[in-house]
Amino acid sequence: MEIYLDYAATTPVDRKVFKTMEPYFSEKYGNPSSIHSVGQEAKKAVDDARVKVAKALGASPEEIVFTSCATESNNLAIKGVAFDISSKFKVQSSKFHIITSAIEHHSVLHVLEYLEKFGFEVTYLPVGKNGIIKVEDIKKAIKDNTILVSIMYANNEIGTVQPISNIADVIAKSREQRAKSKKKLPLIFHTDAVQAIQYLDCDVNKLGVDFLSLTGHKFYAPKGVGGLYIRKGVDILPQQQGGGHERGLRSGTENVPSIVGLGEAIELVTADKRQETRRLLKLRDQLISSILKEIPEAFLSGDKYKRLPNNVNFCFKNVEGESLVLKLSKAGIAASTGSACTSASLEPSHVLLACGISPKLAHGSLRLTLGKWTKEKDIDYLLKVLPPIINDLRKMSPFN
Ligand code: PLP
Repeated sequence: MEIYLDYAATTPVDRKVFKTMEPYFSEKYGNPSSIHSVGQEAKKAVDDARVKVAKALGASPEEIVFTSCATESNNLAIKGVAFDISSKFKVQSSKFHIITSAIEHHSVLHVLEYLEKFGFEVTYLPVGKNGIIKVEDIKKAIKDNTILVSIMYANNEIGTVQPISNIADVIAKSREQRAKSKKKLPLIFHTDAVQAIQYLDCDVNKLGVDFLSLTGHKFYAPKGVGGLYIRKGVDILPQQQGGGHERGLRSGTENVPSIVGLGEAIELVTADKRQETRRLLKLRDQLISSILKEIPEAFLSGDKYKRLPNNVNFCFKNVEGESLVLKLSKAGIAASTGSACTSASLEPSHVLLACGISPKLAHGSLRLTLGKWTKEKDIDYLLKVLPPIINDLRKMSPFN
């Protein structure tokens, strides 16, 4: 038996998505830049996919840039703004300030650490014990020289949902004040919506964001394709030079089959959003309350309610997370400890630490993320095997 409870790490490609992609490998293989009919057929497929992504985000097709993944989208948005502004305003980059949160994905945090080497000043705002940022803290952190705020929509480890539209209101007010005092420096708002796309409202106008990053493999499209929404009128400096693809913002021949898959997948998850959210909320809450009831000294990480409908994350006292994941794997269940990207390292998750969880307890974390093919019987099976595994591990623990 194989029960997959690691949908936040990646998802299988939906068969329907795969079918729409298939012709674009060997039959409709054109280069979208070619002006002959084979090329134009591929161009139309890319254009159609762009329309689908734009529709899901309430954006215009010209505001969508296809990338290879969200890591690239985050790099493009953050470095693109930082270097565009520092090149235009012709002052040292140490004059510019960026705000983010301590629980962002490494594809944001490490980009900002890189920018710090160029002299940009970065504020890493803390989150509360529930993993949620205080809007008031953003307001206090904005300075005259702040050029960018990058806050993720939903966290990949603990699933907490940030108040993006409230943050956007605060940013809009700061912009108005800047305009009144005739200051020209832009203040841009970026969100990494990788984990949110399939469950939360991602209308960019309701959210009030200027950039939104996404990646296909988290919502049943293939790996290696992503997108970035860039609000019309917001300037960025391209981070990849070449043939001028994607309106010069991301050179490189388009990955046509995967872009077609991304378009199909976003259309499917957008259509199913409400129903799937309702279905998973029930399973998630059943899982949370059963673990709390059945397993002593189990602590739910993140907010109980303001979290994604597919995310459950617990820390178990005196349990080693890696051993737990390996034992579950032996029992036929795929889950993770920390995030997939950091589970190779033995460092406790920066997200759990930022929520005030001790390093020792954070080592005993388990993330269970549900998805399209998760059934009630999968949850029942997990709830049958998890308590004895925790018991066994605790008996072996030197701390017990
Ligand atoms: N942002 C978040 C919140 C993620 O969960 C991930 C992947 O785990 C990424 C960015 C990076 O996505 P990719 O590896 O597709 O670039």
